[in-house]
Amino acid sequence: MRILVTNDDGIHARGLVLVAQSLRTLGDVMVIAPESQQSAVGHGITLHKPLRLDPVDLGPDIEAYSTNGTPADCVILGTLGDLPCPDIVVSGINAGANLGEEVLYSGTVSAALEAALHDVPGIAISVCAYEDVIYDAAVELAPRVVETLLGNPLGCGTIVNVNVPNVPPSEIGGMEMTRLGRRKYDDIVIRREDPRGRPYYWFSGGPTEADRAPGTDIHAIMQNRISLTLVHFDLTSQQRWEGFEALAAAQPPKTGPAPA
Ligand code: MN
Repeated sequence: MRILVTNDDGIHARGLVLVAQSLRTLGDVMVIAPESQQSAVGHGITLHKPLRLDPVDLGPDIEAYSTNGTPADCVILGTLGDLPCPDIVVSGINAGANLGEEVLYSGTVSAALEAALHDVPGIAISVCAYEDVIYDAAVELAPRVVETLLGNPLGCGTIVNVNVPNVPPSEIGGMEMTRLGRRKYDDIVIRREDPRGRPYYWFSGGPTEADRAPGTDIHAIMQNRISLTLVHFDLTSQQRWEGFEALAAAQPPKTGPAPA
């Protein structure tokens, strides 16, 4: 089995090396990861500059490269480039939650979705902390999710988004299938002045967790449970919009060429 490991925290992130090592038990592991921090770059790909793949030493038995591209670029290089196509892509282990609408911004989740776009199974794994991250449970879980997904494939560009609470394995209260909650962010635009008196802006603030009902990924994490959410790229809403009938009914009469 060939496993491609990537992330958005960059090639030197601890979670990347740990998951690559843990997946060695399942097959050949190749790492392609951004050379620098790419968190929250979403699903961007690089079209206007050349991409490089530079070999990196991440320890024995792990073929590893850093790139000057995004997480989605890493997956494109790993699946469509001149390297052998992987059987599965694992993105992570991210330092920081990817819950609710964070999946839209997440480079971690986007990398897994990019794999799914190329019909390669994808898994995103995150631990819900930026500092003092406890990777143990996620490291132990990753190979099991890989084996389970390969044995129980998902269709239609769907990935498994795994979030692990930042507690020791003994404190984890199980796992559950969830839906995305909502994490609205407050006070997000901070305005300050630079030393020359010119204003600059920095996005900051924390989530308020607007939907943390039972069944959401956010609720599971609050209960110290691992959440698994199936995420796919079909953003089509199933809502019926009455406005469409009004819009269609109010269409101006067709104006075409005058009949001959
Ligand atoms: Mn990240």
